[in-house]
Amino acid sequence: MTTAYITHPDCLRHEMGAGHPECPARLHAVDEQMRMSSLLEELRCLEAPLADADDLKRVHCADYVDRIFEIAPTEGYLQLDADTAMNPHSLNAARRAAGAGIMAVDEVMAGRCQNAFCAVRPCGHHATPVQSMGFCIFNNVAVAAAYALDQKGLERVAVIDFDVHHGNGTEDIFSAANWQPKVLMASFFQHPFYPYSGTVNPASNMVNIPLAAGSGGDAVMRAVEAQWLPALEQFRPQLLFISAGFDAHREDLLGGMALEEDDYIWITRQLMSVAERHADKRIVSMLEGGYNLQALGRSALAHVETLAHSARLQGSAGLQGVS
Ligand SMILES: [Zn+2]
Repeated sequence: MTTAYITHPDCLRHEMGAGHPECPARLHAVDEQMRMSSLLEELRCLEAPLADADDLKRVHCADYVDRIFEIAPTEGYLQLDADTAMNPHSLNAARRAAGAGIMAVDEVMAGRCQNAFCAVRPCGHHATPVQSMGFCIFNNVAVAAAYALDQKGLERVAVIDFDVHHGNGTEDIFSAANWQPKVLMASFFQHPFYPYSGTVNPASNMVNIPLAAGSGGDAVMRAVEAQWLPALEQFRPQLLFISAGFDAHREDLLGGMALEEDDYIWITRQLMSVAERHADKRIVSMLEGGYNLQALGRSALAHVETLAHSARLQGSAGLQGVS
């Protein structure tokens, strides 16, 4: 069993103008770290397919999806909201980003790999059912989770979000009554901070933990142990999704928290342990934020290395003794 690494060159062609922090160099930084470490040679590397409109409409209103397909520019930039723009490659990049999650679900459910990391952009967790927001066009992780529930016969999945920003779009989608029994969302995020949501849980399936600026590994560890893990244990998710943003890193340009690579390794191990008990070890992780290129690359590598090396040790040493 192994780890899938899913990406696509189209995700490098989406860009939103000079100086925008959500830039193609982010994916290059992740890729460079992966190559330098030789980790890529151990992974099942796959190219993301295009999500089709019906996949997107499981979590987005049909009108919104149709409108994005229609207004995608053929030249120049189209500003969707204050933070999010499309260039002529953005529609395909957004469809690849969502499609990567669908492919990852297929991979882990078929047993071709134990877990998967999707190195994609644009990110997704701010996209609501009806609008783009915060660099996000389609909610990639929500599209993948809904696909797993609708098409793979699963009854319960968890979405864990450790991006520094609250995943308001994912919360909007899965706090709807029809999703509540099937989805548990667990997150921590800097507060008060963009998008200034998450402190009032709209539904009982949301475990949102606001943390003050400056919070580091100790605060995150306490929050995860006190709130995430008991909720996950009780919910018994059959598949775990991760909104893997690395902008809570100490060196990040946008975030004000103080996580380090070791903290991402610790979180990843905790989630792998939950997946081992309840989800046949299945995890689908999708890149969200992370804006200091070096910190992003190192953190993503630490996360994927943990997923991969623990996956390789399946059946022998388990999760103990993994460095
Ligand atoms: Zn973020």
